[in-house]
Amino acid sequence: MADIARRAGAPEQHWTWPAEAACRTGDSSVFLGRADEGGADLEERRRAAKAVCAGCAVRVECRRHALATREPYGIRGGLTEEERRALFTRGTAPVSRVA
Ligand code: SF4
Repeated sequence: MADIARRAGAPEQHWTWPAEAACRTGDSSVFLGRADEGGADLEERRRAAKAVCAGCAVRVECRRHALATREPYGIRGGLTEEERRALFTRGTAPVSRVA
């Protein structure tokens, strides 16, 4: 898993959940795409990442962290970059009540 919990400013109490992340093992490349990626490859990679997230025991914590830190890259907590950005654009990012 990318070291998403050790960003500057992340409260220390949030640093324990990554130990339970489903993405700690396996192919982490499904969570971050390539710059030249597109079309069917992009969609297939995102589907694979979201499937891992769907079964992750710390999905809520991960999504909350990604929203709180405005993580700009990758699939986090089952959301794409665009899905997270859309929540902020609409002003509906549910940081405190992510399910
Ligand atoms: S929700 Fe997804 S990105 Fe977040 S820790 Fe779990 S598997 Fe990793």
